[in-house]
Formats: sequence, structure tokens, C-alpha cells
Amino acid sequence: MRRVRSMEHVATVVRAAFDLLFPPLCLVCGQPGAADRPSLCDACWRSIVRLGPPWCALCGRPFWILDAAGARLDGHAPADLCGACRRHRPAFTYGRSATLYGGAVREALHAFKFSGKTALAAPLGDLLHDACALGLPLAPHLVVPVPLHRGRERERGFNQAALLAGRVARRLGAPVATRVLCRVRSTRAQADLSGVERRTNVRGAFAVRDRAGLAGRHVLLVDDVLTTGATLSECARVLIDAGALTVGALTVARVT
Ligand SMILES: [Zn+2]
Ligand SMILES: [Zn+2]
Repeated sequence: MRRVRSMEHVATVVRAAFDLLFPPLCLVCGQPGAADRPSLCDACWRSIVRLGPPWCALCGRPFWILDAAGARLDGHAPADLCGACRRHRPAFTYGRSATLYGGAVREALHAFKFSGKTALAAPLGDLLHDACALGLPLAPHLVVPVPLHRGRERERGFNQAALLAGRVARRLGAPVATRVLCRVRSTRAQADLSGVERRTNVRGAFAVRDRAGLAGRHVLLVDDVLTTGATLSECARVLIDAGALTVGALTVARVT
């Protein structure tokens, strides 16, 4: 036992010495990473535009814009729901996105998802947790990632939403359930589709595999990016059909 502990101690010292000689670099800009956030430097972290109220009470769309210098301008303050939610109400109970999609967060999400830089799950998950700190309407019983199709997950080697959900669940002290929801059919990439096409594309793409723990529960769904919300809305619909009381939809970033 003592031998194992001394080996662990040696490994820690060696790692610290290695980090001193070769500090971990920011995976977005290549500058030295922050001491407590090695995969992302302070400049990149600070440049990320966080979302906050005033926003749509349902989907979290901000009711403000940025000017050319990046300063926040309060826009019109309509009723409590945005136009998109008034036209087509999503199935989730509330939505929150931590940041605006763009700049360093776009680069980080891209490196995380497509270049396998999974170390970014920690700072990106922390952004999600910060969005929760702004006050979720309901404390979640369960954190559920948006699933990838099995083939896609095998190809990528991981599900980015599951890694993010793991981080935010740990910070919230709630359990994460990666096997409650599954994707039963692969879908076309949503990027080139209109809002109506996106909803049709994901209809019937998800199923609940395990209903047992859902009855009367507040579920927090987690994904990386929200565009129209069609995927999150479809996931929420099947979770509510399976007995969930409320479904919050949380993403790192949203496209506006
Ligand atoms: Zn950086
Ligand atoms: Zn809305």
C-alpha cells in the first residue's frame, strides 16, 4: 500500500515538473493555458460572451444585442416569450444557453467535437454550470445528455453531450443518466435545413430506453449547441411522454 502511494507521489511530482517545463497550451489559441484551466487561456475565457437576462422565459433567447465593439445593448423588451416560441412552442419546460456561439467558444466547441480535444469538456462544462448558477427555475433530479446515434458515437469515440453532462452533473451534485434516452435513427445534418425541416428531420429519432427513473422527475437535458431547438424539443417531448414532469434544456452556446 505504502509502495503504491509513493509511486503515486512520484508520478504527481514528475507531472508537475513536466507541466513546469512544458506548460499545457490553450487548445484555442496556443498560448499557455490558465493554471486552473489548462486547456483554455484566460484571454480566450474572458472573450466568451456569456448570456444573461433579459431573455425569453421559455427558450433563453437574449433580448439584447452586441454593438461593433462587443458592448451589450438592451434591445426591445417584448412580452416574456420571444417570437420563435410564440410561433412554435418547444416541448422543453425552459431552455438556457451559457454563451453566444462565436469566437473562442466556437473554436473550442469545434476542437472538442471534431478534433477529439476532450480536455475542453471541463471548461465548457463549467460554462454550463455557470448558466445554472444564474438560477434554474427547478433543481434537476437527473442530468441527461442528448444521445448520438451509435454509429456516430463509435466513429467519434465519445459523445460530446455526455462529457458535458458529466461535468455539469458533478458540479450540481446530481446524477447523470447516459442510457435513459437513445437515438433510434440517424438524422440528416440539421445545419442546412429550415426550422420546419429540422422538426420533421428529428421527429421519431429518439426513444426512452428506461422509463423507470423518469416519473415525476425534473430532468436537465444537455447538448453542445442550440440552433432552432428542434433536437432538444424532440428529446424533451419523448422524456415528458415517458413520465418526466419537467425538462430543462441546457446548451453551452446558442446561435442567434
Ligand atoms: Zn487561448
Ligand atoms: Zn423563446
